[in-house]
Amino acid sequence: ASQFGMQEALQALGIKEVNDGTSTGSNSFSSGEIIESYSPVDGQLIGKVKTTTAADYEKVMQSATEAFKSFRAMPAPQRGEIVRQFGNKLRELKEPLGKLVSYEMGKSLQEGYGEVQEMIDICDFAVGLSRQLNGQVIPSERPGHVMREQWHPIGVVGIISAFNFPVAVWAWNTALAWICGDVCVWKGSEKAPICTIACQNIIADVLKANNLPEGISCIINGDYKVGEMITTDTRIPLVSATGSTRMGRIVGATVAQRFGKSLLELGGNNAIIITPTADLKVVVPGAVFGAVGTAGQRCTSTRRLIIHESVYDTVRDAIVGAYGQIKIGNPLDEKNHVGPLIDTDAVNTYLAAIEKAKAEGGKVLVEGGVLTGEGYESGCYVKPAIIEAENHFEIVQHETFAPILYLMKYEGEVENAIEKQNGVAQGLSSAIMTNSMKEAEKFLSFAGSDCGIANVNIGTSGAEIGGAFGGEKETGGGRESGSDAWKVYMRRQTNTVNYSDQLPLAQGIKFDL
Ligand code: NAD
Repeated sequence: ASQFGMQEALQALGIKEVNDGTSTGSNSFSSGEIIESYSPVDGQLIGKVKTTTAADYEKVMQSATEAFKSFRAMPAPQRGEIVRQFGNKLRELKEPLGKLVSYEMGKSLQEGYGEVQEMIDICDFAVGLSRQLNGQVIPSERPGHVMREQWHPIGVVGIISAFNFPVAVWAWNTALAWICGDVCVWKGSEKAPICTIACQNIIADVLKANNLPEGISCIINGDYKVGEMITTDTRIPLVSATGSTRMGRIVGATVAQRFGKSLLELGGNNAIIITPTADLKVVVPGAVFGAVGTAGQRCTSTRRLIIHESVYDTVRDAIVGAYGQIKIGNPLDEKNHVGPLIDTDAVNTYLAAIEKAKAEGGKVLVEGGVLTGEGYESGCYVKPAIIEAENHFEIVQHETFAPILYLMKYEGEVENAIEKQNGVAQGLSSAIMTNSMKEAEKFLSFAGSDCGIANVNIGTSGAEIGGAFGGEKETGGGRESGSDAWKVYMRRQTNTVNYSDQLPLAQGIKFDL
């Protein structure tokens, strides 16, 4: 990938000692064993990262807890100013960081840039929010009393993130946590450790330029064992964890055991309902981008199309036809639509899912398979597949993190489609394609989609930062990013103040001495 300027990109991001085992990032103290990061794009070694030991972790926590004492005292709009500078730094480094995301994770270059743009957007959002962390005044039932609600910084926020959004998920959390007065300890994905270091270097520069303590942003490196340092640590009141449902089940229970709060962003099993009045011009790009974008490795990727029987053949043929146009290859080359899966384990999971779908009675409409030959040496490039299936198949009920799209029919009214759409354990994103106002409103009503995200005439993937992001059921219930998601990063306090000369009790209780 040297022809795509990767070395220059790494240099711009301060990843200097590539290949010699010392690129551990600012303020990370890491001294443990080494993780090697290989690109799924071309199989080449990108760099090596030292993992965090228990002793390193103590140093990190000392640095974070110390930083929190001063950072929480800084006025929120001044904290917003730091996030504004961070956003500007990201604007400067959008190209190299986007390239690194594409090279280390495998998503297309446009999506790599898009991911950095999301970081910039959340910074802008957070800057405005830093002047709006408003509480409220509540009428008291007692004379001469006033009640109010305030929001205080919560403390050290632990962030655990997945490989597929190796930089944006961190920013969604940190930009809000920082303006709220919290400090962050981040364990990025062990599958994209160089991205973690690049991000840490960027914020470390901003903190240094403002004479602020390094501990406002900390990273720890390693796999789930390092993640457990966060989940079991009573000094961390909030753990924001993004990843599989399997991970969330363990993390949620571990954090709950010690009465910590967790914000869980877990797997999805997202469907688009296609009704008889759906506009094919919208359906085809929406479904195809949703299913094959990021090689099907988005939590919001479209996994299921639930199509009305009256338009089934037309929609199926249009989508199968569009799959014929998809170009698979080096994601840094902008002519390609689809890059590789993250690693060969993911390839094996993809192959096994196709076999399972066939064994359960699925009919393959677009054949999958692993690509070989020139340009595909990493062994991670697969063909997006389409399979006609039933919603109740065990494999359809599971999230396979790969480009496999299941097509199924519904009959009669939209309620039948909604039942199928809701008939899975996950509840992240959903969409309906319709020109019927009644169908659209039913889908959005209390009796409609049970997902955290429900769209009309756009696909399931590609959310804007302005809304709260997250899902129900096995997706974990957490919300981050826009709307009032900031509240989870703060602790709520209710105050009652008596400015009278009496002490009336609430509920009119008499207590005469
Ligand atoms: P993963 O669950 O394998 O790993 C995610 C992170 O959790 C990693 O950093 C990992 O080291 C850590 N981890 C795993 N087990 C842990 C444990 N017991 N304790 C502490 N940390 C632990 O997921 P992945 O393969 O990196 O990512 C893919 C998954 O993430 C998919 O299921 C996808 O849907 C989901 N995802 C969800 C969202 C969302 O916002 N809902 C966003 C992105 C990805």
